[in-house]
Amino acid sequence: MVELPSRIGILPFRNKVLLPGAIIRIQCTSPSSVKLVEQELWQREEKGLIGILPVRDATETSVATQSLSDSHTIDGKNQQEPNWHTRGVAARALHLSRGVEKPSGRVTYIVVLEGLSRFNVEELNTRGQYTTARISPIDMTKAEMEQIEQDTDFIALSRQFKLTATELISVLEQKQKTMGRTKVLLETVPVHKLADIFVASFEISFEEQLAMLDSVDVKVRLSKATELVDRHLQSIRVAEKITQKVEGQLSKTQKEYLLRQQMRAIKEELGDNDDEDDDVAALERKMQDAGMPPNIWKHAQRELRRLKKMQPQQPGYNSSRVYLELLADLPWQTTSEEVELDLKAAKERLDSDHYGLVKVKQRIIEYLAVRKLKPDAKSPVLCFVGPPGVGKTSLASSIAGALGRKFIRISLGGVKDEADIRGHRRTYIGSMPGRLIDGLKKVAVCNPVMLLDEIDKTGSDIRGDPASALLEVLDPEQNKTFNDHYLNVPFDLSKVIFVATANRAQPIPPPLLDRMEVIELPGYTSEEKLRIAMRHLIPRVLNQHGLNSDFLKFPEEMVKLVIERYTREAGVRNLERNLAAIARSAAVTVAEQEHNIPLNRISSPLLETRLSNGGGAEMEMEVMAMGVNNHAISNVFTVMSPLIVDEEMLEKVLGPPKYDDKEAEERVVTPGVSVGLVWTVFGGEVQFVEATATAGKGDLHLTGQLGDVIKESAQIALTWVRARATELNLATAQESNLLEGRDVHIHFPAGAVPKDGPSAGVTLVTSLVSLFSRRRVRADTAMTGEMTLRGLVLPVGGIKDKVLAAHRYGIKRVILPERNLKDLVEVPAAVLGSLEILLAKRMEDVLEHAFEGGCPWKKHSKL
Ligand code: ADP
Repeated sequence: MVELPSRIGILPFRNKVLLPGAIIRIQCTSPSSVKLVEQELWQREEKGLIGILPVRDATETSVATQSLSDSHTIDGKNQQEPNWHTRGVAARALHLSRGVEKPSGRVTYIVVLEGLSRFNVEELNTRGQYTTARISPIDMTKAEMEQIEQDTDFIALSRQFKLTATELISVLEQKQKTMGRTKVLLETVPVHKLADIFVASFEISFEEQLAMLDSVDVKVRLSKATELVDRHLQSIRVAEKITQKVEGQLSKTQKEYLLRQQMRAIKEELGDNDDEDDDVAALERKMQDAGMPPNIWKHAQRELRRLKKMQPQQPGYNSSRVYLELLADLPWQTTSEEVELDLKAAKERLDSDHYGLVKVKQRIIEYLAVRKLKPDAKSPVLCFVGPPGVGKTSLASSIAGALGRKFIRISLGGVKDEADIRGHRRTYIGSMPGRLIDGLKKVAVCNPVMLLDEIDKTGSDIRGDPASALLEVLDPEQNKTFNDHYLNVPFDLSKVIFVATANRAQPIPPPLLDRMEVIELPGYTSEEKLRIAMRHLIPRVLNQHGLNSDFLKFPEEMVKLVIERYTREAGVRNLERNLAAIARSAAVTVAEQEHNIPLNRISSPLLETRLSNGGGAEMEMEVMAMGVNNHAISNVFTVMSPLIVDEEMLEKVLGPPKYDDKEAEERVVTPGVSVGLVWTVFGGEVQFVEATATAGKGDLHLTGQLGDVIKESAQIALTWVRARATELNLATAQESNLLEGRDVHIHFPAGAVPKDGPSAGVTLVTSLVSLFSRRRVRADTAMTGEMTLRGLVLPVGGIKDKVLAAHRYGIKRVILPERNLKDLVEVPAAVLGSLEILLAKRMEDVLEHAFEGGCPWKKHSKL
């Protein structure tokens, strides 16, 4: 029995407990603990005692030793202070060593402490150099002890404890031979102390340690200790069993297998089902629910049986599993409910989503009407053809919306491999289903509207012909049993509504084109673009950036400038992009304002009284200020005038203007340059042709990534000009050879863009005539047309797009082949009204119109 003093120096023990009978070694480095050790242990030698008091961190990281300098009450309410336990253990030093920390010269101690007996803390004083406490002993006196030893419960409990403890020792003895001493302990030390000593040697949680410390009643203590010793015993046994099982002559995989079996057994024991098994079962359920046709279900079951026989590590397991997942995920029967088609609503929706496009929308309504009348009729596949950004995709998604079906876009751009559409056979490593099946898996219904985007961009090469696969897809006779190589069982595509898009119809293979109904979307005039921007793009862009017209206003004038100076496309995609860029920058400005609202601008009586009151508690202040702030921000916003887009802002965000009407004028300042109209995937374009002559041997050089047809046009043009050199007054009769001593070089700028086609014929001749006559062409005039060797002008395609392009570029006069007159009906009247259209039958007509003051040929030519 130890005699406890009434007051004791306290060493805080963070999240740990020292139990009586336990021995620990600690290093004391903090000033207060060093002082404590110095005064209470070092100076008093054997007589010294200190109290070890558990402290629970309020936050796990708070530093208990630091808080010793503050004042505390034991049950202090302030959460930030460490939470002292009310019971501790007095300890004496078994060993003390003093050290000096090297650079700082600080004294530190290493102390080996032995826990002696429990005490109650009556009062804690943290004001001194270290914490001290007034304490009272709680351990039993000798007399009490003798009395309880007669208690039958106590006797039974001690016997139980000793039995368990002996068992533990014997189990441990088998592993290490040094347990003899422990056995002796068991016989000599009083059982209530043994309980502490045993428990102190286990790794148990802080809570359990505290509970043990608080078990003042020896009976409680004994039963608790028995429980803990027993648990320890069990865990050793389980560990042993497992090692026994894995020991022996096992190969690595056998060992893994065994361990897995064990894991399974353990999980089963815990009521936890095995993941893998569980997964396969889930997969099976999913497959059952997938609604596969009977023959496919049979096939799937066969595959599933195979999977079940495999080990997860076995090659092929994963691929088989992924395959079955696909089978289970595919919408064999799942459809989206087809709503009763309301044509009026559909029309309204098309109108509200798309400006203009009257004919196109009309055709879509007809298409929908047919579907309504005869839902199972084999309606044609609509194919929207037009340059990018004219609304092809969004029309298709409107169709899906009108039919109440899901929409999926399958991009076919750059698809050269048939496997992209049909998938790879499963024998390949990393094989996948084709894009169609993959898309169906994603939409998860078997009757979506499927957009085959850029169907003109599929090519064919050695890896097969995607077009022929598409042919099968679009054929109502064949697509009932579409065969994806990966899937390897037929899938019914007949419920899918296909819609296609293409930039041009011409590259689409004829059999494919035959299955589709082409609807052309030529592109928009500047006026149409302006309307689209004001009505559709701007509201959408604002919305996407969390703005509205209270914050940002786009005046029509500015939108016009964006259209004229920053975009020159047939569609509205870049326009939308530019508008988005402006909105983005405006959003930043708005967000910045949100932060910079100066406090004095917020006139809130609430905040003012707070401030004048001197604030009160700091925390409260902050909370109040924030609340008021938010409220004030919305106020400030409603009174803040909206940001108005102006020219300065355009330049800041979009940079200097990219285009202006002067381009043509600047390009044609030198003779030899002419202005053509061509047709590209981006719609109509204005394209310049540059010709120049250098000293040489009469060769023709062509540059600008030209195809064969356009190269031949150049040859024809040169031949025609040379043959008429004298008539055209380009050379005197004596030196009728135009190429005498010189080479001609013709270049088509934008040298990186591939060009081909016959429609540059007239433009080529014009540039050559300009070059040889040293006369400039008119900058306000653009032309298109094919020319024969004899000078006849032949009609060309894409007139509508070309005229629109000329209009966009600010061209005033357009020379067209006479036989293209009929195509002009497609051009919007507004555009035609602003252009002078000049028709040409022969090359001479073109030249007549192309030059100021007419063609430079001899007045009395025989032509
Ligand atoms: P495409 O598929 O032809 O390349 P998109 O359908 O993606 O073009 O259209 C680009 C953007 O322009 C979309 O945001 C679309 O809504 C918008 N758009 C195109 N045409 C119109 C129109 N006539 N009215 C309203 N918005 C349009």
